[in-house]
Amino acid sequence: MVEIKYNLEQITKRIEEACARTDRNPNSVTIIAVTKAVSVGRTKEAVDAGLMNLGENRPDGLKLKSDDIDSVKWHFIGSLQSRKVKEVIDQIDYLHSLDRISLAKEIQKRATRKVDCFVQVNVSGEDSKHGLAPDEVISFIQSLEEFDKIRIVGLMTMAPNTENESVLRSVFRELKSLQEDVAALNLVHAPCTECSMGMSNDYVIAVEEGATFVRIGTALVGDESGESR
Ligand SMILES: *Cc1c(COP(=O)(O)O)cnc(C)c1O
Repeated sequence: MVEIKYNLEQITKRIEEACARTDRNPNSVTIIAVTKAVSVGRTKEAVDAGLMNLGENRPDGLKLKSDDIDSVKWHFIGSLQSRKVKEVIDQIDYLHSLDRISLAKEIQKRATRKVDCFVQVNVSGEDSKHGLAPDEVISFIQSLEEFDKIRIVGLMTMAPNTENESVLRSVFRELKSLQEDVAALNLVHAPCTECSMGMSNDYVIAVEEGATFVRIGTALVGDESGESR
C-alpha cells in the first residue's frame, strides 16, 4: 500500500489549491483520517505521518484503536445506537451523527463532559442515508437547548455516491447554507460554525463549497478490509 505520508502530501496540496481557488484559508480545513477499514498498525502510521484527527464509525473499532493510541482527537462518524452511547461517549472528541432527540437524551444522561456534536443532515434525501431532512434541522437544534452536555459545532452530510459534479456541489452548497442559517441564530448551545463534508472521492469539491472538516479514508490510509489482519 502507498505510504500514508505520500497520500497526505497529495491531499494537502489539492486542499490548498481548492482553498486558493475559492479564497479560503487552508488552515480552516481539518483532515480527519478515517481508519475504520485499516488495522491498529496502519492507524499508528497515520499518526506518525502527522494526522491528529482520526475517525471511526463503529464502537468496537473505536475501542480497539483508542485503547492503544492517545494524544489524537477521535471523531465518531457512524450512526450511533442509543444503547452504545455509554461505550463511546467519553472516548470521543466529536460526534458527527447526531440525528434524533432520543440520542441527545442518552448523551445527556451518559456523558461526563460536554460533547461537540455535528447534526447529520440528509441533504440528498436518499432513503439509504441517515440524518434529518434539511427543513427539520433548525427546530431540532432549537430543541437541544436544554441539553447542557451537547454543543452543536456544525452540520454533517454524506453526498450521494456519484461522479456528477453538479449534484455533489449542490448537496455541499445546501449544507453550507443551512449551517450559516443556524449560525446566524446566535444560539449559545449551537455556534454551528463547521461543515463536515467530503470524502475520498469528493473532498476537493467539498472544500470549494466550504467544508471545514473532510473525512478521508481510502485515499489517505487505504482499505485493508478485504485482507486478513
Ligand atoms: C467511511 C466513511 C468516510 C470515508 O470514506 P472514504 O470514501 O473511504 O474516504 C467518511 N465518512 C463516513 C461517515 C464514512 O462512513
